[in-house]
Amino acid sequence: MSVIKQMDELLANKIAAGEVVERCASVVKELVENSIDALAKEIKIILKDAGTKEIKVIDDGIGMDKDDAVMAFNRHATSKIITEDDLYNINTLGFRGEALASIASVSEVTLKTCQEKQGTLVKINGGKLLSVENSDGRIGTEVTVANLFYNTPARLKHLKSLYTELASITDYVNKIALSHPEIRFTLINNDSILLKTDGSNNLLKTIKAIYGTDVAKKMLEIEANDEDYKISGFISLPEIHRSNRNGIVTLVNSRVVRNSELNKAINDSYHSYKPDTRYPIVVINIELDPSLVDVNIHPTKMDIKFSKLEELISLISTTIKERIKNINLIPHIEEKYEINDEIISNNIIDLTPLKEEYQEQTLVFDLPKKETIKEENKEYIKEEETTFDEIKEEETEYLEKKFPELSIVGVVNGTYIVCQNEEGMYLIDQHAAKERVNYEFYLKKLGEPNLEVTPMLFPLTLEYPVNEYIVIREHFDTLTDIGFNIEEFGINSVIIKAHPTWLPKGYENDAIKHILEAIVTFENKFSIEKFNESVATMMSCKLAIKANQYVSTEELEKLILDLKNCDNPFNCPHGRPTIVFHSNYDLEKMFKRSGF
Ligand code: ZN
Ligand code: ZN
Repeated sequence: MSVIKQMDELLANKIAAGEVVERCASVVKELVENSIDALAKEIKIILKDAGTKEIKVIDDGIGMDKDDAVMAFNRHATSKIITEDDLYNINTLGFRGEALASIASVSEVTLKTCQEKQGTLVKINGGKLLSVENSDGRIGTEVTVANLFYNTPARLKHLKSLYTELASITDYVNKIALSHPEIRFTLINNDSILLKTDGSNNLLKTIKAIYGTDVAKKMLEIEANDEDYKISGFISLPEIHRSNRNGIVTLVNSRVVRNSELNKAINDSYHSYKPDTRYPIVVINIELDPSLVDVNIHPTKMDIKFSKLEELISLISTTIKERIKNINLIPHIEEKYEINDEIISNNIIDLTPLKEEYQEQTLVFDLPKKETIKEENKEYIKEEETTFDEIKEEETEYLEKKFPELSIVGVVNGTYIVCQNEEGMYLIDQHAAKERVNYEFYLKKLGEPNLEVTPMLFPLTLEYPVNEYIVIREHFDTLTDIGFNIEEFGINSVIIKAHPTWLPKGYENDAIKHILEAIVTFENKFSIEKFNESVATMMSCKLAIKANQYVSTEELEKLILDLKNCDNPFNCPHGRPTIVFHSNYDLEKMFKRSGF
């Protein structure tokens, strides 16, 4: 090859590096996926300073012979150019070939690999081959990428804080571990272990390794299928939720993909079981015929389009809703070491003001649970080790329990009803409980076709800005269907002459304004289901008993009975808990009674 041609090649690699290698996580991704392609059973990722100093990936895969080892860094030498079909049919991860050459052009790379007895050691600096030597015979491959972007200072500046780099690597490794529970992954940064999975092909164990035992105990297994799709995986109980979406992982044929509509559908399935702005932990694998997806292959992400998306969404939401519907969802308040991952992840978010495009990739950051525990309480680790086998048993317990029989003991601060049964003490938030009861009442009313209508003695006229008026005008039918008599009234105004009888007495005018506002907020994304939910939520709060309001014991008994009869008695329509539980055991523990 002529010198000029070589220069061209180097330049091309450097340019390509700018596109393919954006940050440390892109290097980790490339190396790990090579290891997976090499059929590794174990992959170790060892970082120095979040990968900015060094990234080492060691696998026990099939390794390369000497020729392949040298060729691996040649930009056009790839044997793995892939079509979309291949992507799902063969077991390889895509966007190969150029990436390794690009990485080598902007760093110092050492490759040690061995296929049979004789190993090879290749050293490359800034894309220039320094040496090819023989090395020892450990089967597998070890790639070390040091000083990333050392020769491209402009890109070096683009690397974010160590925290951010580490967060995005952790996010990637967590997800790849979830998609390959059969591979043993170890992620180490500056000698501390951030993740270690056991490769036992047990997804729940991988979830435990990432999120800790407390979360793993509160995961529910799901499985369902229809003609086109088969879904399986784990979803968290609604009480487990986080401030960002990164706990929602969707796999297609065991590969991590991204589809925002799917993520939204998963989150929506928890509607009113948890606050809408908090997100569950969900790992769902979707098995399908490759012809049903359209993949946009880009080196840094895997966006996917489903040709029968509606069908898939409905399968997923029905499955999740059914799974959480009949479970006892009373949060169990235990007196023990709580690892507040809230604080951890919020801190991290504050620390990393990120560019929009990175947000989804980087916000997840699961600090090593074990490490955190180690400092606080060593005994707890022992407990953690033993409880894993019990996960399954406890899960079935959830299934059998329903809303408990309770007797009222009293009321604290005119707000919390104290109740008991043979298992322990329950606290019910009277406002939240009444909200839930009202919510289901109004939701039912809104869905009923034959509604009683009350003519208004003084018709109500309301004026709106023209854009809002247009939206309301478009939905006159919706309003008529639920029992309103509404007409145009001059410019940008409407007149309401009758309303459904079930509007809260004394709050009729307010309620009408709220309902029209709800229509305006939806604009062109109007759906009757969402509209009904939002109207019911609004009215439920208006009519609920306030905190600090005296309520007679008879009324409280009626309230608890009504709550018990709700479809979801465990949350108010805003997703907050209506009831919490302290077991007798916890109470005894709290007072250091026998055995503690
Ligand atoms: Zn409220
Ligand atoms: Zn509420």
